[in-house]
Amino acid sequence: MKQQIRQILVTAAALGCGTLASSQAPAPAPAPTVPVVQMPRPPENVPIETVNVAPGIYVLFGKGGNIGLTVGADGAAIIDDQFADMVPKIRAAVALLSEKPVHFVINTHLHGDHTGGNDAFGAAGAVIIAHDNVRKFLGSDQVNPANNQAIPARAKEALPVITFADTATLHFNDDDLEFTHLPNAHTATDIIVRFRKANVLHMGDCFTGGFPFIDGNTGGTFDGLIAAHEKVLATIDDNTRIIRGHGPLGNKAELQAYHDMLVVVRDRIAKLVKAGKSQDQVVEARPTREFEEKYGGGSFNAAQWIGRAYVDQKAALERRKKK
Ligand SMILES: [Zn+2]
Repeated sequence: MKQQIRQILVTAAALGCGTLASSQAPAPAPAPTVPVVQMPRPPENVPIETVNVAPGIYVLFGKGGNIGLTVGADGAAIIDDQFADMVPKIRAAVALLSEKPVHFVINTHLHGDHTGGNDAFGAAGAVIIAHDNVRKFLGSDQVNPANNQAIPARAKEALPVITFADTATLHFNDDDLEFTHLPNAHTATDIIVRFRKANVLHMGDCFTGGFPFIDGNTGGTFDGLIAAHEKVLATIDDNTRIIRGHGPLGNKAELQAYHDMLVVVRDRIAKLVKAGKSQDQVVEARPTREFEEKYGGGSFNAAQWIGRAYVDQKAALERRKKK
């Protein structure tokens, strides 16, 4: 075991790019007009479906965020762990592919549909790795500024024990898992995980199958998400397989199309905000119109998403004015 631990080197390099990182308080100032997002209730009794992505690398589809899995000589590691009630099913799915338990859990960001299994995996001895801000958010009591609901701190076992500000690498199962922080994108806690040799990328909720949920209450911004996509697109190729936070497996062309859609919608909203239009007027202008069939999905609520984007772009305009 000791030898194995020596083999598994986690290197963290703080590059200090002036982005929201460990030195800043976790909760950004609330935007009072952000519409409350009613997340659809997750269905019960969802099975885990395991799909092979590359040799030794799998995606587990179930309830909540898609899980990346690597199995091999060093053991098993998972990227995200859905909800607490899915843990027995996740363990069973891993056990079909690995005799060893889960050594590492990597959290792409703080949300409960990606970190709900942390308590059980952490208590069983898995080492949890995430961005500095995941530990800050999960380790302290929070209040959702959109609805004043208290969000209590998570148990000690659920907290990441290795955190980093910008990048880190996990050398595991004969590959290099490169973690990169994407500042103020879906949240202020996002990382993506790239299997360098296998050319597989897990993007967490920075890339999903539908219109994005940009969580302004935890530091997410529309501009940051677009910048994140540009950063990722510059580093991948046509053979890269992308695990989305939610939705089917993706590729570079689909990420490019998603990015281009966001730029069109963002620019339309920014223009209306700059022209002094109200939130209702921006919602009525329907800046998402031609994209709704492709990205709208069953639970898409135009007023809710455009309303949030309006608040985001109003704040972005204010920031630009102050500069
Ligand atoms: Zn999320």
